[in-house]
Amino acid sequence: MIEELLKDIFVISIPIPKSPLKNINCYVIKGNERNLLIDTGFNNQICYEALTAGLKELDIDMERTDIFITHFHWDHSGLASVIASDKSKIFISEIDKNILIGLVDSRNSVKKANALGFPDGEKNIKKISDSDVMYMPLKPVNYTLLKDGDVIALGNYKLECIITPGHSPGHLCLYEKKQEILFSGDHIIFDITPNITSWLENEDSLGAYLKSLEKIREMPVKYTFSAHRSAIGNCYSRINELIEHHEERLEEVLEIVNRLKITTAYDTATKMAWSVKADNWNAFPPIQKVFAVGEASAHLEHLFFKGMLRRELTNEQYHYSL
Ligand SMILES: [Zn+2]
Repeated sequence: MIEELLKDIFVISIPIPKSPLKNINCYVIKGNERNLLIDTGFNNQICYEALTAGLKELDIDMERTDIFITHFHWDHSGLASVIASDKSKIFISEIDKNILIGLVDSRNSVKKANALGFPDGEKNIKKISDSDVMYMPLKPVNYTLLKDGDVIALGNYKLECIITPGHSPGHLCLYEKKQEILFSGDHIIFDITPNITSWLENEDSLGAYLKSLEKIREMPVKYTFSAHRSAIGNCYSRINELIEHHEERLEEVLEIVNRLKITTAYDTATKMAWSVKADNWNAFPPIQKVFAVGEASAHLEHLFFKGMLRRELTNEQYHYSL
């Protein structure tokens, strides 16, 4: 499904079956010399067919097209190396590139699983989070690194990189100042709440995310184009909802710690309310457990960084208490 949103800006909606994300919105901006594709979908057959069909319908020649990856997650980066031509640049932030190429282990390690409090049988998070809808880029790629403030000029549009850490450590939005257009990636999604997980040791990912939301709230934005579900929405009302959501979650987590006296991220997640279609915690699909424990960890860590909780490392496991 393709739609022209503004002059020379198109959205290709790519299905993501068996995932609450439902789809990814890949954007194409046609320029004079070169075009830009923003995000790609997973490296799997369904995404590949939908994306290449969309690019064909828009008459996009990959020899004249570069690819911008908002963040390292496989639903955004998976197909970049598959569809790129020899002349395509593939843009990404440095920190997310390092995660993508495995230099930094963001989430999928047994050590991390242990720190989060996963029980023995569930410690191999990498294995349990593998599923047939999650395919990562396979070919080695020469990424072109972008940082906050860098500009990609394309015909009528000048797209500025806005660093918005939170959903990933190096998440980049693109902002067109003249027409006040924001490509928000997974930083702002309208119909679902972007997953915030803890990433690297001793970094407050939720704190970073809330700051990144405030950063966007200060900017004049007329059009927000998001990466999942509804492509278009009002970023200001959504930012307020997202901040409120996390404030409520922080209260919920604080109440759980108070009740349990001492707890891990895993145990906290089992006590939080989730909108996952499962009768109880044990019936959660493994990937949803990973996301839930990550969310619990991000909220616990934020409370720790704010000085509202204590954190102790015993047996390489983080325990939180009041
Ligand atoms: Zn995504």
